[in-house]
Amino acid sequence: MILNNPSLFISEAYINGKWLKGNSSFQVQNPSTNEILTEVPNFGKTETAEAIQFAQEAFLAWKTKSAPERANILKKWHHLLLENEEDLAKILSLEQGKPYKEALGEIRYGASYIEWFAEETRRIYGDIIPGHESDKRIMVIKQAIGVVGIITPWNFPNAMIARKIAPALAAGCSVVVKPAAQTPLSALAMAFLGEKAGIPSGVIQIITSDKASEVGLELCSNPIVKKISFTGSTKTGKILMQQCAGQLKKLSLELGGNAPFIVFEDANIEEAVKGAILSKYRNAGQTCVCSNRIYVQESIYQEFVEKFHQAVIQLKVGDGMNIETDIGPLIDHAALSKVEFLLEDAIKKGANLYCGGIPYTLGGTFYEPTILTNCHDDMLCSTEEIFGPIAPIFSFQTEEEVIARANASEYGLAAYFYSNQINRIYKVFEALEYGMIGVNTGLISTAVAPFGGIKESGFGREGSKYGMDEYLDKKYICIGGISS
Ligand code: ADP
Repeated sequence: MILNNPSLFISEAYINGKWLKGNSSFQVQNPSTNEILTEVPNFGKTETAEAIQFAQEAFLAWKTKSAPERANILKKWHHLLLENEEDLAKILSLEQGKPYKEALGEIRYGASYIEWFAEETRRIYGDIIPGHESDKRIMVIKQAIGVVGIITPWNFPNAMIARKIAPALAAGCSVVVKPAAQTPLSALAMAFLGEKAGIPSGVIQIITSDKASEVGLELCSNPIVKKISFTGSTKTGKILMQQCAGQLKKLSLELGGNAPFIVFEDANIEEAVKGAILSKYRNAGQTCVCSNRIYVQESIYQEFVEKFHQAVIQLKVGDGMNIETDIGPLIDHAALSKVEFLLEDAIKKGANLYCGGIPYTLGGTFYEPTILTNCHDDMLCSTEEIFGPIAPIFSFQTEEEVIARANASEYGLAAYFYSNQINRIYKVFEALEYGMIGVNTGLISTAVAPFGGIKESGFGREGSKYGMDEYLDKKYICIGGISS
């Protein structure tokens, strides 16, 4: 790999400002080619506990820095991330498989959180409240929560970390990060640039490990850690919540989704097709806000399917580093097996394979973008998160019916719909039980808005003015005996 700055390609973990090798290691692979990119240390409970201790020492100093001091360091980090965006995107694309152009988008998106929270650092305002008795004065201040444990998935190796580290550091917290074992290199490169920006030793620690449950248990059970911020599956989120229960440790959980994408007959069909392509096939369908179920009103069903198909066959599958590629490989063989299993189930239950449905000619974990029509709610692709490039299309008749079907999921992360009737738009977004709604758009993620879900998609918000509160405690002070 040719990088402008080769020192960004790092194979060591980062604890207390030191780059460390381990006694044992694990391999990081390129999912496009199966090439071994490098090996990184395989740390466990002991190293995690040490990192937590260093993070606590660093926290005590970091939280006392003035807001402009923290903001300026974060701004510098933001600047360095953008200055190195091409290298960071290459590293990301190689370890994750996503197309280079999407990787570049992710680096910019991740950096936008660092910038946003650098700015928000100066606005950690408290309150003065009129006292309830004449000699009382009441105020509320907000203070950094402490050491934060961060656990992230492989689908956005940069952005999932940026969305958590940025508000944590802005608030004055220090962090111990465990990136996904498939994609630790983006995290290490980010930390390297953080160090260059002046983030003090110990404020960010990166534990590379393929022993997720061991590291996770230490983060959840070590009393120094005051908060866990996790993005990943609902299954793992529930384990972490149980492990945190003993100490009532605070949690932010950004978990699975099962996004409905509804196209009403009054919608602009061309725009709906564009939105569906973006929200379905981004990252080969491997995002938690990807459309999972596409509902199209009966009267426009055939027209939508045909136009959608025309757009799908334009998508180019290939190696992420090829500039023409729209869809990279799935992350691993387990992901491929899941997609194949869901497809088989749908066909067995009567779905029509409109296009795709086979591994791509490139082999490995590449998969053809696929459309299923004639889908029903009893198919697993309607209830499970697909996390792959299969688009099941369902038909519906009435607004009430589609709202009920869209809400019939334990998940509540993102939902999308297309309509041009203002009345309907209000009624539908108020009725959908989801944390985020895209109306006439398939792209909703931005640092300025609160990202997060309800129901079994978790709780807590990332980005926006709300994002900072996840890393702050409120303290109420009552001053008595003030005589007038
Ligand atoms: P995904 O299906 O996206 O891989 P996971 O929930 O399995 O979702 O993984 C998300 C992150 O959680 C990864 O960093 C993974 O290593 C970590 N993880 C998985 N199991 C556990 C666990 N028991 N405790 C802590 N972290 C875990």
